[in-house]
Amino acid sequence: GPALVTARGLEKHHGQTHALRGVDVTIRQGEIVAVMGPSGSGKSTLLHSLAGVITPDAGEVTIGDTRISSLSDDQRSQFRLDRLGFVFQFGQLLPELTAEDNVALPLMLGGTKRARALVQAHSWLERLGLAGMERRLPSELSGGQSQRVALARGLVNAPTVLFADEPTGSLDSLTAERVMETLTDVVRSTRTTLVIVTHDARVASYSDREIFIRDGSVTRPAFETTV
Ligand code: ADP
Ligand code: ADP
Repeated sequence: GPALVTARGLEKHHGQTHALRGVDVTIRQGEIVAVMGPSGSGKSTLLHSLAGVITPDAGEVTIGDTRISSLSDDQRSQFRLDRLGFVFQFGQLLPELTAEDNVALPLMLGGTKRARALVQAHSWLERLGLAGMERRLPSELSGGQSQRVALARGLVNAPTVLFADEPTGSLDSLTAERVMETLTDVVRSTRTTLVIVTHDARVASYSDREIFIRDGSVTRPAFETTV
């Protein structure tokens, strides 16, 4: 497909830490890309920069026709709610909300009425094998079920790009593989572009392509064959 997410010359400092050092990335529509590298190498900073969650010190990010680095904070928030999806580590669900309300939340934040958002939420919960779990609280779900609820929440607004940061981080390996199979099945069938940050080679094996980061720079895979 055509280029969908383009980053050019990204620089980001966190205090004294130079977290991104001139990063260029191109991700095509429908691709599943794994961003890999050691802890502290800048993976999360890159993901957050691509998704408009943080503003890089220099460089540009474009998603589709939108240069997100040129948007105001309000415009960027609205763009994220309308066009992007997010899945993070285990523990991201709001503990006081049921599964259905956790999934409906991004739509409601974007202005959709609750009744209508719940219809969408139920459809995604069913698609992810969670029919009957709609009214459960996160504490009443297993780890794998919780991550499926998180996937449903990330997908509920039919995002152009789904960003996932260590989405199987605290799951056992069998559950992690099942969640990855579900995630990649859904994004392939919906032609959603997926950018997934992981340090886990088994998670990355579900991707079409791997981008390696070390000390804030993209490195060539040939230098990163040892895990
Ligand atoms: P990774 O996701 O690969 O573990 P991060 O992008 O989280 O790496 O972090 C890159 C570097 O920037 C690390 O040295 C980290 O400690 C530092 N860092 C990240 N976020 C912040 C922050 N908000 N304040 C200060 N340092 C940060
Ligand atoms: P991740 O698992 O995504 O790498 P971390 O646990 O490293 O996340 O960081 C969680 C939050 O803390 C992020 O918002 C990150 O920007 C921030 N952070 C990371 N490293 C530092 C740091 N050294 N000092 C301050 N904040 C940090």
